Amino acid sequence: MAAAAVSAGRTAGEIKLLAVSKNFPAMALREAYQAGQCCFAESYLQEALGKIAELHDLSVEWHFIGPIQGNKTRAIAENFAWVHSVDRLKIAERLAVQRPQHLPPLQMCLQVNISEEASKSGVSPGETGDLAQAVARLPNLTLRGLMAIPAPADAEDEQRAAFARLRGLQDQLNSQGLQLDTLSMGMSYDFPAAIAEGATIVRVGSAIFGNRIYQQGII
Ligand SMILES: *Cc1c(COP(=O)(O)O)cnc(C)c1O
Repeated sequence: MAAAAVSAGRTAGEIKLLAVSKNFPAMALREAYQAGQCCFAESYLQEALGKIAELHDLSVEWHFIGPIQGNKTRAIAENFAWVHSVDRLKIAERLAVQRPQHLPPLQMCLQVNISEEASKSGVSPGETGDLAQAVARLPNLTLRGLMAIPAPADAEDEQRAAFARLRGLQDQLNSQGLQLDTLSMGMSYDFPAAIAEGATIVRVGSAIFGNRIYQQGII
């Protein structure tokens, strides 16, 4: 991350590392925490709630990055500091209503289907502006920016092109009066390209924890 930041004329301190810990046991997170990692991201709610309970003695900042159905919003609103995967107004409204008053506002990114893939979650780039304007008016949450998982690409210039589109979209929304400061983009295999294009949060799993082993019943 530091090398990618320097070659982009940025400093490593501008970019937050989210350790994506889905499919890894609480013990692996505890070890990473003891090595100085404080922000963890989870994709599956039941699995995440188990780890949050198990690690309640640590001051972890929890991020939710998985698909969200309506019946999951209450637990997300109650247990997470950030949510990156909101792509519908209905979900944002439920999170706003269900966010407990004693907690700080829920920090939110909208997931954008930046490569416009048919079966991928995320709001389409063309509809992002309307959704962002509506979400920004909701109470109990702070709209921070945009998140994307581009279509896989091996060539770095292709990776960069997708991330540049997300940044362009964010610039456009900011020119229309929004104040977005977060670009959540880049995973293990493409985070240098994301940092080159302005990522402020990278979501890295396997490069930290190793390859995930998908067991039956866990995902
Ligand atoms: C799993 C996941 C990641 C991390 O992927 P790695 O390739 O393991 O770094 C990042 N973002 C989201 C939304 C994920 O589901």
